[in-house]
Amino acid sequence: MNVILFGPPAAGKGTQAKRLVETRKMVQLSTGDMLRAAIASGSELGKRVSGIMERGELVSDGIVIELIEQRLPEAEAAGGAIFDGFPRTLAQAEALDQMLERRGSRIDLVIRLKVDDEALMKRVAGRFAESGRPDDNPDSFKVRLNAYNAQTAPLLPYYQAQKNLLEVDGMGSIEAVAAAIDEALDAPRG
Ligand code: ADP
Repeated sequence: MNVILFGPPAAGKGTQAKRLVETRKMVQLSTGDMLRAAIASGSELGKRVSGIMERGELVSDGIVIELIEQRLPEAEAAGGAIFDGFPRTLAQAEALDQMLERRGSRIDLVIRLKVDDEALMKRVAGRFAESGRPDDNPDSFKVRLNAYNAQTAPLLPYYQAQKNLLEVDGMGSIEAVAAAIDEALDAPRG
């Protein structure tokens, strides 16, 4: 089963994806994690994307689509992927559908975590103080939120049209959100 965890930056997608890796042995495909790993390794790719990420802007579609494509066989072997932070643009969503279709597969479920902007800002301020992730600074976070609203939120009608979009309240505790996601994953689907 292939699932997209969809939502604004800091909505809790990574936290929930990691839990699903533990409980369901799915493979988490987080483009953010892949890009941060590229930066940490000092690779050419890392050098190309570090400034863009630090400012909170989106990396080009071609880069993230290729990163995802490289990991699809591994996810397939595990029986399913949790896409986390991908797709973020319509071009990425269309490319993902095409890549999966070529492999005889598809997106089964898109789980949208709904969290309001004020709560997101509060979370990120706390996270920035704690971990100092460079793009969690208030200016970059505003750019990330704007990128979400302008480029990523428009994907919602795309998935709504495919009739596989499910909304979960992302404002609750980690456990409450996890329970809602489990319910969504275990519900019978047509
Ligand atoms: P968050 O969901 O908290 O914003 P991510 O780790 O998903 O964090 O993303 C961090 C940054 O990595 C983004 O702000 C962007 O610069 C880059 N990035 C990650 N995924 C994508 C993507 N699918 N398309 C373009 N840029 C991406």
